[in-house]
Amino acid sequence: MMAVRREAYDVIIVGAGLAGLYTALQLGPDLRILILSEGDITKTNSYLAQGGIATAIGEADDSEKHFADTMACGHFANDPGAVRVLVDEAVENIRIIEGYGVEFDADERGYKLGLEGAHAVARILRMGDHTGKTVLSKLYERVLERDNIAHYDHAYVYRLISTGECCAGVEALIEDAQRIFMAPSVVLATGGVGQLYSNTTNAIGIEGTGIAMGIEAGVKTAGLTDLQFHPTGLYGNDHYESRHFLISEAVRGEGAVLRDENMNRFMEGVHPMKELAPRDVVSRAIHDVIEHQSLGYVYLDATHLDERFFKERFPTIYDCCRNFGINPAHTMIPVVPCMHYYMGGLKTDLDGKTSLRGLYAVGECSHTGVHGKNRLASNSLLEALVFGRRTARAISGDSLRVDDLKWIALREVPYFNMSFGSLQAWMTRNMGVVKNFDAISDMKERLEAALWEPKGHRLPNWEDLRNFHVIVLMREMLKKMIEERDENEI
Ligand SMILES: Cc1cc2nc3c(=O)[nH]c(=O)nc-3n(C[C@H](O)[C@H](O)[C@H](O)COP(=O)(O)OP(=O)(O)OC[C@H]3O[C@@H](n4cnc5c(N)ncnc54)[C@H](O)[C@@H]3O)c2cc1C
Repeated sequence: MMAVRREAYDVIIVGAGLAGLYTALQLGPDLRILILSEGDITKTNSYLAQGGIATAIGEADDSEKHFADTMACGHFANDPGAVRVLVDEAVENIRIIEGYGVEFDADERGYKLGLEGAHAVARILRMGDHTGKTVLSKLYERVLERDNIAHYDHAYVYRLISTGECCAGVEALIEDAQRIFMAPSVVLATGGVGQLYSNTTNAIGIEGTGIAMGIEAGVKTAGLTDLQFHPTGLYGNDHYESRHFLISEAVRGEGAVLRDENMNRFMEGVHPMKELAPRDVVSRAIHDVIEHQSLGYVYLDATHLDERFFKERFPTIYDCCRNFGINPAHTMIPVVPCMHYYMGGLKTDLDGKTSLRGLYAVGECSHTGVHGKNRLASNSLLEALVFGRRTARAISGDSLRVDDLKWIALREVPYFNMSFGSLQAWMTRNMGVVKNFDAISDMKERLEAALWEPKGHRLPNWEDLRNFHVIVLMREMLKKMIEERDENEI
């Protein structure tokens, strides 16, 4: 058997979204850092972010108000200590990325702040509707300037190397070859789970592998049943890069309203904040409307906006709608709720530390406790910044060293007779805005049986590894879903 190539670093970061890149930049120049990602920076949810970064920076705002909105939106299931850190450390992290060259929209009166759902005031720092793309590109320029940071951007990481007491590195496939990367500190910044669903706004490849690897290594998780569905994914374009294009909440922030097939503005009777109610409330209302009408979507009506304004304020959305044959200033946009954000993940403390020594988690794959049961819009990019910086500080202060550790490369992986596409379709049907508990119980049994008795074992290859991770993660999510249902019934 061919020897597996091995490299050693001080810190390995898995993921090149905002959480991964910002954590890397916050680490000292004396550390040798490797970023591993499955795709380049365009294949991240960070790159797709439209709305912006929630920050209490305007005159009418303060961190107390941001704290109150975050807690209320999360149904008060948030960790108040984590929320306090999030809102209090927002501005200092914004100043740091501005130092990296990021310039938010502003005029002579100050920042142009956007308004989004469940925010009491306008507090979203933005750049048009392409905030994620612009911020990430700027940070990546800074990463490329650093001699101490290397990046492999076609590396599929599939296993944590653990001594049992601490994490010591990762295994990855690069161009189908198995590779070993050793380091005393490993940061998972692998993002959420959106691509477990066929109706999602998430980038391709964002399917929860990091969380599944953590589960496999026995790392503690939290919030695994907490899924956020965005109310306004563009209907009918689900073959566009395997995801639904997102019509940002900021469009509703500019006054757009939701209408059913009879043109009724149905949110008026549902919540005092109407279309700007929290996402779970709006998604549920849309789901209910669709159940009782003939159309499989509702309309987002932004026709009150002047076309020039729309084009300037939302250039990406405008272009996408036009490519789809819709002029949003003249025609209503068909929308449906889509899987969007995962509140669950690997449980961390306020410094990104997981329950396995040497393993950190940052960004959407982590569970810091800031989001509770429902994330407040534009708090996730902020979370990546605030907790990325804290994680970098914790790593710099850690004395753990992995010297000549014994490691064994994974020789074989199980494979199953379940296709990824069929699992995605199942999630969409049964684990959507409304849950089908009969199907969930049945699928949990099937997944357990599959893991117990896989169809066989083969040399590590991307397809088998991906299916393995999906099955591990789904089984855990479904198990927790049933446990929670049972607890609520008692
Ligand atoms: C369309 C859209 C719009 C959004 N708009 C906003 C917004 O305006 N404001 C806001 O706060 N939030 C927004 N969000 C949410 C926010 O973008 C994400 O929560 C955040 O960007 C997650 O950042 P991250 O760095 O944790 O993960 P990501 O940016 O998703 O990056 C994950 C990285 O991990 C890599 N990866 C994953 N698995 C593996 C593996 N096995 N091996 C190697 N690499 C791997 C990926 O290749 C990628 O590089 C939006 C999300 C979407 C989908």
